[in-house]
Amino acid sequence: MKYDHILVRYGELALKGKNKKTFIQILKRNVEKKLSAYTNIKVQAKRDHMYILLNGEEHEPILKECKDIFGIQSFSLAMKVENDEEKIKDAALQALMLENGNTFKMTTKRPNKNFPVRSQEMNQILGGHLLRNTDDWSVNVHNPDVELRVEIRHDATYITAKKIQGKGGLPVGSTGKTLLLLSGGIDSPVAGYLTMNRGVEIEAIHFHSPPFTSDRAKQKVEDLARVLTKYGGDVKLHLVPFTEIQQKIFQEAPENYGMTIMRRLMLRISEMVAKQNDILSITTGESLGQVASQTMESMHTINEVTNYPIIRPLVAMDKIDIIDISKEIEAYEISIRPYEDCCTIFVPKSPKTRPKREKVNEFEKPIDFSKDIEKALSSIETVTFSAKQSDEEDDFDDLL
Ligand code: ATP
Ligand code: MG
Repeated sequence: MKYDHILVRYGELALKGKNKKTFIQILKRNVEKKLSAYTNIKVQAKRDHMYILLNGEEHEPILKECKDIFGIQSFSLAMKVENDEEKIKDAALQALMLENGNTFKMTTKRPNKNFPVRSQEMNQILGGHLLRNTDDWSVNVHNPDVELRVEIRHDATYITAKKIQGKGGLPVGSTGKTLLLLSGGIDSPVAGYLTMNRGVEIEAIHFHSPPFTSDRAKQKVEDLARVLTKYGGDVKLHLVPFTEIQQKIFQEAPENYGMTIMRRLMLRISEMVAKQNDILSITTGESLGQVASQTMESMHTINEVTNYPIIRPLVAMDKIDIIDISKEIEAYEISIRPYEDCCTIFVPKSPKTRPKREKVNEFEKPIDFSKDIEKALSSIETVTFSAKQSDEEDDFDDLL
């Protein structure tokens, strides 16, 4: 007897009334996609739990993948046995042998009232059986190393031990889509990750300025987009050529307003891309007070060009906490690669830290960007990164 499936608990998802069925279907789809490299497994989604049937697959790597999927509250390795006292005793013993520790507690539940032995009595029978057949285990009901749970249901009895915490949150794709402005920096991937936590699917947009920005800078952004696929959905990345627009801004507008105008154009183009792709919001990694472009005045002036909701998950966070998340999601090492992005190259010597809307409008007015925007839109290159965790699967045009 060994663990033959993983029992997945939904958590918050279970509270979502009418939507529950859809949420569970989306989670099932995400789990299947993420685990598609394990060809033998089967996923069964029920009202209260999900079961991942291992069918002989090793459980360790699969447990690791489950930790990254939004919408999974916790999960446990589990065994399924017939509703037969002797078989349950055997299986409980096997389960305990797979655990580390010295003390255990038995917890039996008996939703199936046709089973002749009551929960309390079953705890005693199983506890006695385990104590008689092991040398170094004892019972501790208050603070056990291992809690062995036995649930006697109508179809069968399920035995689980360690409860592993998942990420919680909502399954990616269950609450709509956002367009993430993804730079090569530390902040925007974290902003994307936090938005995904609320069930939001990500499409990313990146503005680059070849030949001033290198292929490696582009590669960096692609790698960051790929990191985000670990958490439950495909990520589409739109790469927008921005060189000509940037050059025009810095030729025709006062230098110290260049940064603000550039951001406004990024946002205008982003809104158009969002519209084309049926996306109803834009997400950025902006945080208050970090740099010149992130003052309240600057946000006010940049925001003027769109009335799409802008999600700024980091707006009130400390940099240290942002860095912690960046490390946790394994984006940090990529984000600190030294390649320049378009903003660092065209950065004015003394950017206006409190740009006013009226001023910026006055400077923008004589410059006609419409042709440039059209051209940029029609030259967008789109790459899709699959949530399936296998490198060959990525649609990676650099390598083709
Ligand atoms: P990050 O660490 O995400 O680069 P930052 O601290 O460098 O952020 P800014 O350079 O002011 O801050 O950028 C603010 C936000 O604008 C970024 O978090 C990102 O969402 C967006 N952004 C900046 N540059 C680009 C770009 N080249 N392409 C797409 N989005 C960008
Ligand atoms: Mg940046």
